[in-house]
Amino acid sequence: METQRLRIAMQKSGRLSQDSQALFKSCGLKINLREQRLIAHVENMPIDILRVRDDDIPGLVMEGVVDLGIIGENVLEEVQLIRASQGLPFEVKTLKQLDFGGCRLSLAVPEDVTYTGPQSLAGKRIATSYPGLLKRFFDEKGLGFKSVMLGGSVEVAPRAGLADAICDLVSTGATLEANGLKEVEVIYRSKAVLVQAPNPLSDAKQKLIDKLLPRIQGMQQARE
Ligand code: ATP
Ligand code: ZN
Repeated sequence: METQRLRIAMQKSGRLSQDSQALFKSCGLKINLREQRLIAHVENMPIDILRVRDDDIPGLVMEGVVDLGIIGENVLEEVQLIRASQGLPFEVKTLKQLDFGGCRLSLAVPEDVTYTGPQSLAGKRIATSYPGLLKRFFDEKGLGFKSVMLGGSVEVAPRAGLADAICDLVSTGATLEANGLKEVEVIYRSKAVLVQAPNPLSDAKQKLIDKLLPRIQGMQQARE
């Protein structure tokens, strides 16, 4: 049975958690997220907040298991590319780009390596958690490469002899520097976005969303 409460998925713990929580708060949602629960009930509105790993959010929204989700564009775009490569659709509605979660997906090579452009990496091994976005970049340049898929610790791959370069998320560059790497190419720029499930929602849920969106808009304008 479909719940009448609007369900919103957010990252449980990580780089998007605090800002997502702050966004809800600024929209007037009263939530107690201190308890380590999967689902938090909003006290003053018919909304439930589901706290999960960020990687689970695109699937949950796509399937309509939740009505809304806050997720990095990088994850959304990657899922879409991987599904497209398998001939599968990926439909979610992007309602709003948010003003947090900013980062870039970049190519980085060991500091002592000479880089003169993407062709410097032709045929090389590149470690990444984003094989779809990486492949699109090299496809557009007409260059080949070998993808080394790593779910984490991507930045240690060159030193460990697993790869010649990496393609990873960067915000300040401190992690790269600490691992003896230099950023040589930005291949994707990302922010967090609010997404909605593809199928129409009940009138009550849609009305609630229509009430929340201007609040988010107002909040972001005030912060600019
Ligand atoms: P989870 O345990 O939920 O899977 P995670 O380790 O995959 O967490 P985080 O590192 O918390 O994810 O990053 C979540 C999102 O935050 C990224 O997908 C990206 O959109 C954004 N982000 C912003 N800055 C950075 C950064 N410097 N490094 C990585 N991600 C960043
Ligand atoms: Zn993740």
